[in-house]
Amino acid sequence: MTATSEEIMPPNEWHNLPASKVAQHLDTNLQTGLTSDEVVKRRERFGANELQAKSGTNPILRFLLQFNQPLLYILLIAGAIKALIGQWVNAWVIWGVTLINAIIGFIQESKAESAIAALASSVQTNATILRNNQKLQVPSTELVPGDLVLLTSGDKVPADLRLIQSRNLQVNESALTGESVAIEKNTEPLEADAPLAERSNMAYAGSFVTFGTGKGIVVAIGEETETGRISQLMEQGTSLKTPLTRKFDKFSRTLLYIILGIAALTFAVGLGYGNSWASMFEAAVAFAVSAIPEGLPAVVTVTLAIGVSRMARRHAIVRKLPAVETLGGATVICSDKTGTLTENQMTVQAIYAGGEQYTVTGTGYAPEGEILCDEQPINGQDFPVLTECLKAGLLCNDSHLEQKEGEWQVVGDPTEGGLIVVADKVGLHRHNLEIEMPRLDAIPFESEFQYMATLHEDRSQKNSASVRTVYVKGSVEAILQRCQQMLDTEGKAIALNPEIIHQEVDVMANFGLRVLAFAKKSLANGQNSLNRADIEKDLVFLGLQGMIDPPRTEAIKAVAACQNAGIQVKMITGDHAATAKAIAQSMGFNKNGEVLAFTGKELAQMDNSQLTTAIEDGVVFARVAPEQKLRIVEALQSKGEVVAMTGDGVNDAPALKQADIGIAMGGAGTEVAKEAADMILTDDNFASIEAAVEEGRTVYRNLLKAIAFILPVNGGESMTILISVLFARELPILSLQVLWLNMVNSIAMTVPLAFEPKSQRVMQQPPRSPREPLLSQSLIKRILAISIFNWILIFGVFEWIQQTTGNTDLARTMAIQALVAGRVIYLLSISKLGILLINKLRGVKEKFTNVSAMAIGIAATIILQIIFSQWNIMNSLFSTAPLNLTQWLICLLIGLPMILVATLVNRFDPLN
Ligand code: ADP
Ligand code: MG
Repeated sequence: MTATSEEIMPPNEWHNLPASKVAQHLDTNLQTGLTSDEVVKRRERFGANELQAKSGTNPILRFLLQFNQPLLYILLIAGAIKALIGQWVNAWVIWGVTLINAIIGFIQESKAESAIAALASSVQTNATILRNNQKLQVPSTELVPGDLVLLTSGDKVPADLRLIQSRNLQVNESALTGESVAIEKNTEPLEADAPLAERSNMAYAGSFVTFGTGKGIVVAIGEETETGRISQLMEQGTSLKTPLTRKFDKFSRTLLYIILGIAALTFAVGLGYGNSWASMFEAAVAFAVSAIPEGLPAVVTVTLAIGVSRMARRHAIVRKLPAVETLGGATVICSDKTGTLTENQMTVQAIYAGGEQYTVTGTGYAPEGEILCDEQPINGQDFPVLTECLKAGLLCNDSHLEQKEGEWQVVGDPTEGGLIVVADKVGLHRHNLEIEMPRLDAIPFESEFQYMATLHEDRSQKNSASVRTVYVKGSVEAILQRCQQMLDTEGKAIALNPEIIHQEVDVMANFGLRVLAFAKKSLANGQNSLNRADIEKDLVFLGLQGMIDPPRTEAIKAVAACQNAGIQVKMITGDHAATAKAIAQSMGFNKNGEVLAFTGKELAQMDNSQLTTAIEDGVVFARVAPEQKLRIVEALQSKGEVVAMTGDGVNDAPALKQADIGIAMGGAGTEVAKEAADMILTDDNFASIEAAVEEGRTVYRNLLKAIAFILPVNGGESMTILISVLFARELPILSLQVLWLNMVNSIAMTVPLAFEPKSQRVMQQPPRSPREPLLSQSLIKRILAISIFNWILIFGVFEWIQQTTGNTDLARTMAIQALVAGRVIYLLSISKLGILLINKLRGVKEKFTNVSAMAIGIAATIILQIIFSQWNIMNSLFSTAPLNLTQWLICLLIGLPMILVATLVNRFDPLN
């Protein structure tokens, strides 16, 4: 018989039970965790730890919202009036086109939304747990009730937990309770009726650990968690709104008023000339329809969505859509050093201990190589201080090495991995050392404090029961300020001389080595737990280890690419200034040829204006505390910069939120950082930021192309109609025909622009100014020029054919076909396909890649236009007339001069 979930989980009362009772209930071992067999059984019974996707807004409502656009109001009303005056065919065609437009919009939008949502949720959350008496990392979805979860600052709580251990644990539960201040946690049982917000011995799924460490038993997973119950909280609406789409909205609203005004005027003027009510209504509607860029919203959504998926392919997952376009305008990128610019592959190459310098051979994490003193291999026994320094590195260490497919890899912190490898080179292994010196307690490394410490029982000494040794490792500054003594060559404690040590550090750091300092302290009081106060002073300095962390080759190229593109790149690191500067120089970082470096301490002492100048001019910011990152972002923004900033720690969240584009690391980043970020790098690599900027710029460029392509048609059409009314001529183009051009024809030709490959020059130009309006001067001139040409085409062809044949339908049809012929040429002139075709004519050999969307779009356009005029049903729906071959050729010929106009325009305002 299997127990139901109610039997195993008394809802809501876990906080009332003591930890041991909870463990009993859930049948789990508080020391070793669940066994694999048990996990398999429970997974089968309880399923995966995930929330069912909650659908967002009702699809019907979302479909109806498609009609909530000013343009569509006009169309719907126009249709209704046409129906009223008995033009039923006209009315149905208008309504039909609006409906199709809404369906296309709805499909595009849903696709874009789900693509972004899927990407954002594809970033997996991991949990550290204890099973089979082993610590391991698993995806949060694999947790089962009874699992033991280890929490550290930066983690997202993966399920509802009853806490059984807490060391200064603080949890932010704002997602659940709305309370934004982190709450201190403990393990004491509480009254049964304690409200959720006061259950200090529970950690609930979806909240974040902001400080300290803890351990808890999983009491509820998936839908059974408190977050799962209040499901509406979890509805993460992906908004498709971006600054640009808002600009568009505003633009189209203004446009609407202007259009309505002019339409009313047209109507009045026409009536004044003595025209019929019905024909003036047709003219006013035709004008309104012609002036509004109907195809544009669909193109914007598609372009942004394509940008998102292109970035994902290049390892940058966009969590918030506006980032796609902000990225393209980034003027400064502030990047972490370790792991983002460098490989995070630490190999100790130099050691300083007991007044001696040592060098180390070998690369990577393979235990091959030797430690040399005066170029002679050493034997660990003869160098007691060196041994002690290596021991400190081994024991004050939470990582281990594993061999995967023949390659040695670090599980944990690469810095610590390097320390394990170097100790191995003289035969020291943690396992053996821990028999004599078992660990009693530890203070984990945190960037803020820059050290880690472990407490060990020392069994080698007499009275071993009470003798304690503390090993500490950390940055030189953090260690030295706590040391009064150091060991000499024989291992005797002498007074510390910080001068000498700083000199040694500088030597290592100037080679770009990451330097760690080591120290120890004896305690004779038999204590079993370690506090920060215990190691505030009286440490004995043991030595230094310097490790190389090679720059990523791709990152060097990416830095150069960014700097070429007018984007400043700044390095922000917790590392030593000299190390950081040496690496920055080796990677080609500079501003105006210089590499200015500042430390966090220096920044802290500056007044506001000095600070802003330093931040603007500096390239390297070393020993920076996380809260200083926020200052850096703010200072840059105050100078008008658009700032992209990377971060991975808990304390980076404010800076990530403040930055125009907050970037978190998918691998090394904490969940807190990922949650705060706009974008996540799946490979933690600086090169992916550069790739994302490139894609962001391409998105913006493609949007400009779409605008530059669509608006001139509206311009040409509306000029035609206005002028015809003013001069009391017959309309060269009817409202339904305008609809066909603006919706069917424009969408077929403009959507391919969203797929345009990036231009070769995309990273050779300075970033666009954040203040630059969407419709820049040169863009407006371009639109006007092409509009005028379009007007001449429509108006000219219509008048000419009308006068020579007297056939109005034919004249309108030929005017439209000539316009479309010109459009195809203009489209080619601003697309990659056009460049390739011209190169082909010039005899340049080049592959036709990434242009299939454009080719399909143009082919579809041609087929649609043939149907438009040759099919009799279309003739009666749209009042068109079939053309003969000569007439087709005439239309093509008349469209040809567009080549000249387009070439001229492209020269002044290059879009490719
Ligand atoms: P970054 O990631 O920018 O290199 P960190 O904040 O990680 O900077 O590290 C800052 C300094 O803290 C390092 O230069 C090093 O001296 C020290 N440090 C880094 N990792 C550890 C660790 N695991 N244990 C002790 N000290 C460390
Ligand atoms: Mg680090």
